[in-house]
This record gives sequence, structure tokens and C-alpha cells, in this order.
Amino acid sequence: MSNETQDQPLRQQILERVTELREQVSRHNKAYYELDSPSIPDYDYDQLVRELRALEEANPWIDSAISPGQTVGGQASPLFATVRHVVPMMSLDNAFSFEELMSWSARLDKFLDPADILSYVCELKIDGLAMSLVYENGHFIRGSTRGNGIEGEDVTENIMQIDAIPKVIGKALGKVPRLIEVRGEVYMPIHAFERLNERQASQGGKIFANPRNSAAGSLRQKDPLVTRGRELAFWSYQLGASQGLPKFEYHHQILDYFRELGLPVNPNREIVKSIKEVEDFCRKWEERRHELDYEIDGVVIKVDSLAMQSNMGSTSRAPRWAIAYKLPPEEKTTKLKAIEVSIGRSGKATPFAVLEPVRLSGSVVSMATLHNEDQVRLKDVRPGDLVIVRKAGDIIPEVVMPVLDSRPKGVRPWKFPTNCPSCNSQLIRLESESDTYCTNSECPEQRVQRIVHFASRVAMDIEGMGEKRVIQLVSERLIKDSADLYKLKKEALEVLDGMGSLSASNLLEAIEGSKSRPFFKVLIGLGIRHLGEGGARQVAQRFRNFDELMRATIEELSQVDGVGDVIAQSIVSFFANTSNQDLVRRLTDYGVTGGAELAGGAELAGGAELAGGASVSDGMELDVSGGEIKQTLTGKSVVISGTLEGYSRSEAQEAVRVRGGIPTGSVSRKTFALVVGVDPGDSKVNKAQEIGVPVVDGSNFERFLETGKI
Ligand code: NAD
Repeated sequence: MSNETQDQPLRQQILERVTELREQVSRHNKAYYELDSPSIPDYDYDQLVRELRALEEANPWIDSAISPGQTVGGQASPLFATVRHVVPMMSLDNAFSFEELMSWSARLDKFLDPADILSYVCELKIDGLAMSLVYENGHFIRGSTRGNGIEGEDVTENIMQIDAIPKVIGKALGKVPRLIEVRGEVYMPIHAFERLNERQASQGGKIFANPRNSAAGSLRQKDPLVTRGRELAFWSYQLGASQGLPKFEYHHQILDYFRELGLPVNPNREIVKSIKEVEDFCRKWEERRHELDYEIDGVVIKVDSLAMQSNMGSTSRAPRWAIAYKLPPEEKTTKLKAIEVSIGRSGKATPFAVLEPVRLSGSVVSMATLHNEDQVRLKDVRPGDLVIVRKAGDIIPEVVMPVLDSRPKGVRPWKFPTNCPSCNSQLIRLESESDTYCTNSECPEQRVQRIVHFASRVAMDIEGMGEKRVIQLVSERLIKDSADLYKLKKEALEVLDGMGSLSASNLLEAIEGSKSRPFFKVLIGLGIRHLGEGGARQVAQRFRNFDELMRATIEELSQVDGVGDVIAQSIVSFFANTSNQDLVRRLTDYGVTGGAELAGGAELAGGAELAGGASVSDGMELDVSGGEIKQTLTGKSVVISGTLEGYSRSEAQEAVRVRGGIPTGSVSRKTFALVVGVDPGDSKVNKAQEIGVPVVDGSNFERFLETGKI
């Protein structure tokens, strides 16, 4: 038997796998580039492409000229006219580890003269869609997508609707180039993405999987007015065709020139001299990626010298002088084992996914929120599905969507349970609301969650009183509600499982210590629906104790800044309820009056207006979050300068602290952000600017607290 015939079965096997991979990659390319609706995470797609390219490289007898592993992007949509790019718009090769970065840099050696010194520009890899913008004599004339790299789609009308893209450039310079093609990324800021999805959900519309797809979907619209409402933004990062430009030697000079022309250029870029420094840059942004209000999926490293770039040239799909280092993925697929419902302290029934554990963003995820009944239906996730799960930093993991291609036969749509999993009473969903509730106030799970919330950091901050402890105390019948915490006795505690004399004393001390919390904390602890931290502070400032507050009318309450009719109504209904009255009476009898710190007045004095109740209490409803306030600022030092509306200095510092942040007095390189209110200290602002510490405007303080983003 000849070698060739011996190899035949193996070759056949390889060819079959290659054909299968090509078919899969082509299908995913179409979904991603043409329909803006991928069906698998980027990570899974990248694995398929890697395998395909590796097989094609190792088997040169396979014709790879037609392979989707060797092409750029997707086909232009017939919705738009076609634009032929003067200079092709290429893709980038990827590196998934620092070793791969080293090998890339080693491959560049052969293009260098002995005297050449290589330096690189490191840029963030923005997760949006590539765009070519052409300006003639300083005026924007055409915008097109990358398409297949040779031909893109003419989206000029849509680009006209994006305020962040200047339509006239170079005014300040006086001298404008005759022609310049600026390449960059159109993206959707995270806050805009979240707003868009909230709007879509409330109107029963399509939920976008991530900011990248919503940016692409918002831009590639037949009706440019749809693009207008979508708050898209742009970063410029590459020069395309040009005429009448100054001479540049380095890529970084081009980026500086873009800025001088008035184009947005991402400030987070660095010129570095070694792969070690490239690695430092990548590590830094792997850690800090969630501080940004846009998504990045990697770092792009480009050879800075334009002469060297031109020596190195390109392959058919990507330049040799640049590479994309991919950050660890934040989306992966895993199996959805079951959907269960958790009951929050107000009785809200939240569906959540029980998952085959999967490692994401540095932790193992085995549960993810599904928000509410409508979300499950809109996403059409079913137990047994393979699903895409997303976890970005500290954010609660969520199920993005099912992988429909892999749906096993016979899986059925999930039905919201009719009865509470804890007390079996009927679950109620009002027609106008998206949430479903267990309305039995005696429900054991609600009891537990109410006490957990009362003791949590955002409210009475009782150390050692976490969910496990509360469940234990409730099941041992030692407590039924939060007031019962104050009648606990050492003898009853020290004999419990996992307790001892010392732990019991510590716990009692923590409970006793909580009596000195200010009134607004007690109000938060009561878990009055809709009343968040901001609202509670304002209410506590106007009505200084329970006596005054319980006498307040809806009208009086709704005159308090930051308290609208809904919150006012909710407060009045809360105190009209006899079991709540009883709870308050018992709390007061035990000395929990919130008066201790108020007497001095200093803590709460001086607060002015507040834009609206930050919804701490609502945010706490999601049981998969562990009942804690979102730790958006964990380990980050934050400096506050000047007066912030609605907060005294110590309140503002506390708001940072309860989110895991470290309020500090002076600006240094370690400072995460400087928050600037009215009349800030000049020295702090100057120092921050000098050393590149980001500055947050005081009017954005609440958003900063909520998201941890600048
Ligand atoms: P790429 O995303 O790996 O890199 C090239 C692109 O990076 C450029 O075209 C540009 O748009 C962008 N970019 C962002 N910041 C940049 C910067 N500072 N400088 C230069 N370029 C910058 O390659 P690609 O060809 O656009 O797409 C391939 C990737 O798209 C895959 O690796 C995968 O992540 C994703 N994809 C996913 C699916 C799916 O089904 N999930 C399908 C197709 C593609």
C-alpha cells in the first residue's frame, strides 16, 4: 500500500472537519457581520477559527483561498449603496497569551535592520464596529462600514446623526488636509446600552445582547432617525487614504494630529519600548476595563514607525505590524440546568438560572439572574438549553440568550410558577407591572430577606448577621423579624451550631452598636418600597423621628426633594399597615430610634437637593446578588472635593465606603477618581489633571456610585 493511500482515510477525516468548520464559521460570520445578531460568544467563535486556521496551515494540500478563516468581515447589505475602499480595511491577527505576543514580536525581527529600535503604540481595542470616515477640505462627506474589507456599506446618512462625530474638522488648526480618511470604531457607551435595553424591554422590543451588537444594529439602519436616538460614539485610531497631509514618521503622531483636527481619540494609549511594557499595559487594562463606560475586548499593539510598518507589510487579511491581544472573555456558553424563582424581602419573585458551573471574569458562575417573567419569554431560554452567560467584573451574572443551534429536541418553554416556592401561596402579577409577587407577608423567605436587608451594610450594618445566620435564627425560632434581633440573649446564641461564647458576644455587641445608626439608615432597613438611599436621607432630614414621619401626609412627603408621589404614597401605606406599626413600636422600645447621631445634627445638616431616590432598596431585591449593595468601587480610592448636592462630606464618603471604595483626602497616582462638586480645591483638581487621575463631575456622582464607572 502506498503512503498516499494509507493517508487517504486521515485526509478524508481532516477534510470533513475543515468543511464542517468552514460552514460553521461562515454561518457565524453572516449572523455577526451582516445580521448584527451573533448566536455564540466571541470566545467560542475564536476557538472555531483557530482550529480551522491551524488545520489549513498544517495541511497545505487543502485549498484555503476560499476559506472564511482567511477573509475579512461579511458581505455588504443590499440596504445600502456599496463603497469601494481606496485602501483595504483589514482585520487584525490575535494573540491570546503573552507568549503569543512574544512570538509575534520575534517574527518582526526579520524585517528590522540591526540599528532599528522597535517601539509600539498600545491602544484599547474598542468593541464596536469599524468605520471609515472621509473628509474633504475639512468637511465630512462619506461614512462606510468595513464590509468585506474591499467593499463596505455607505452609511453616510446614519453617521450624520451621530453628534459625537464631527462634521467639520480642522477649524482650530486653520489648515485642513485636502482629503483624509479617518478609521475608527463606532461604539455604544455602556450607559446608553443599558438605557436602550430598558426602553426596548418596556416596549416589548428586541433586547440587544451586548453594546457591540446594539452599536452595529443601531448604525446599520435603513432609517437614519433610528440611529439618532441611540447615543452612539466614536474613537479614531487609524489613517486610511489621504492627500495634502503633513509628513508623519510615527503612528502616534497621526493620532495626535487627529486630535488637533478635533476628532475623538481615546486618551488611554501609550508608546512603549518593549514587549514587557506591552504586557504591563495589557495587564493594567485587564484590571481596569470595568472603569470604562465602553466595552473593550483587548489591546491593539501597533509598530509605531511608519517606515517599519511599510517594510513589514500585510498578509491577505491583516497587517503584520499590528496585533490584537484578546482579554479574557466575559461571555461563555454553559448548560442551563434549571430555572428557579427566589423570593425577595418585598415578596418579589425573581427567576434565576441554575447553571453548569463556568469560569468567567475570574470567578466560577453557577447562578445567573433572569430578571423577570418577560425577560425569560423575550430571551426564550429554556431549561436544557446551552446558553450564553455574561459576567462583567462585579456585575451580577446574567443569561444573555440561548444558543438556538444547539437546542436539544423536546426542551419546553419555561412557565413561571403559580405558587410561592417558600410558602406556597399564590403568586400575583399586576397587569401594569413586569414583576410577580408573593403577597403573603408571613412568607418565611420574605421574613429572612427582610431581616438580611435590615442588617446589611447599606442599612443597620450588623457585622456577622448574613443570610446564613439569619436563616439559622429564624429556623431556631429565635427571631421572626428585625426587631427580634434586639431581644436576643447570649445563652440562646452561644449554643447554636457554629457559635460559641465569643462569637455570641461579638454578635450581640454588633447588634447593640447598630442602635446608634442614623435615622435614614433605619428607614432604609425597613425596606419601604421605592425608598432608596437618597430619598431616605432627605426624608430623615425633614422628619426627624418615627413620630413625625408617621404623622406626615402624602402631600407633605411629596414636597421633600427627591421624593415624588410614588415614594410618598409608599411611605404612607407602609406606616398605615398595623404589623409595620407594631414593628416600629418594638424597634423604638428597644432603643432603635435613629436619634443618637441626629441629636448632634452635624451628620445630616447642610444637605441640599437630590436628583432622585437612588434605588438602593430596589437594587437589593435580586437575591442572586447576596442581598448586598452593589460593590461598584471595591478597593478603589476616591477623593471628593467641593460640595456635592444632596450630600454632606461625610455622607458622600460613606456612600463611597458602602460600595467598597476608600474615601481619601489627597490625590495621588493611586486615586481612582476625583469627584468634583461646587467650589472644589484648586490644588486637587490641578494635581489630578497633572498626573492623569480621572475627574468625575459632581452632578454625575450618583451614576458614578451606581456603576463605578467614570
Ligand atoms: P478583530 O475584532 O479581532 O480585530 C479587528 C478590528 O478591531 C478592527 O477592524 C477594528 O474594528 C477593531 N479595533 C478596535 N479598536 C481598534 C484599534 N485601537 N485599532 C485598530 N483596530 C481596532 O477582527 P474582526 O475581523 O473585526 O472580527 C473578528 C472578531 O469578531 C472575532 O475575533 C470575534 O471576536 C468577533 N466575531 C464574533 C462572531 C460570533 O459569532 N460571536 C462572529 C464573527 C466575528
